[in-house]
Amino acid sequence: MGRKFFVGGNWKCNGTSEEVKKLVSTLNAGEVPSQDVVEVVVSPPFVFLPVVKDLLRPDFHIAAQNCWVKKGGAFTGEVSAEMLINLGIPWVILGHSERRLILNESNEFVGDKVAYALSKGLKVIACVGETLEQRESGSTMEVVAAQTKAIAERISNWADVVLAYEPVWAIGTGKVATPAQAQEVHFELRKWLQANTSPEVAATTRIIYGGSVSGANCKELATQPDVDGFLVGGASLKPEFIDIIKSAE
Ligand code: PGA
Repeated sequence: MGRKFFVGGNWKCNGTSEEVKKLVSTLNAGEVPSQDVVEVVVSPPFVFLPVVKDLLRPDFHIAAQNCWVKKGGAFTGEVSAEMLINLGIPWVILGHSERRLILNESNEFVGDKVAYALSKGLKVIACVGETLEQRESGSTMEVVAAQTKAIAERISNWADVVLAYEPVWAIGTGKVATPAQAQEVHFELRKWLQANTSPEVAATTRIIYGGSVSGANCKELATQPDVDGFLVGGASLKPEFIDIIKSAE
């Protein structure tokens, strides 16, 4: 199907400038498969974007962790898509569950952000995922379909979108989804894309898994036919991230 494996490292709100430089030199020294095999994108906090851009190996790319929903201006504390483009940052993570749940970002707001970021030329890692309560009540697919729909209604260009399925109950908990659980949702999401966008979008859009991915569990998850890579939090701050990138092979 030609979906290149994708590994993202979400550093979240972590690190001092010394720690960030150390992490970058660890990554720079890592032996990983070529860019033909795997696309690697790391996502530092905003303030470290310039230093990471200066120091990071050229075969790895950079994502911001968020951006504003429209053109910049009188929005204290926000960072616009235009600023990221101006800085030469190609990717942005949008709709992470920490922002949806803690900062109350709605499906519509996330959809608007994705559409605006794409319109400015950013590539987007768009996150969806259900809470434990939603999974236990049997509404997983309904939840992730509604999150995906709010994006799909606002965009036509899926070529620059990677969809990240990140069950909230698996994030930062050490409780990774089983390969079968991940595959089931990825398969259903691809089916949803097939029915609601186009067969081509469904066949070509990377759907990556996130939530307690580690060096130990990545290999088996990566064998699942609809798992096209990972969005890694905690383990992306460790040398282990290199092992996760290697699961592309
Ligand atoms: P985790 O985070 O790997 O620490 O569970 C994943 C994420 O939030 O993207």
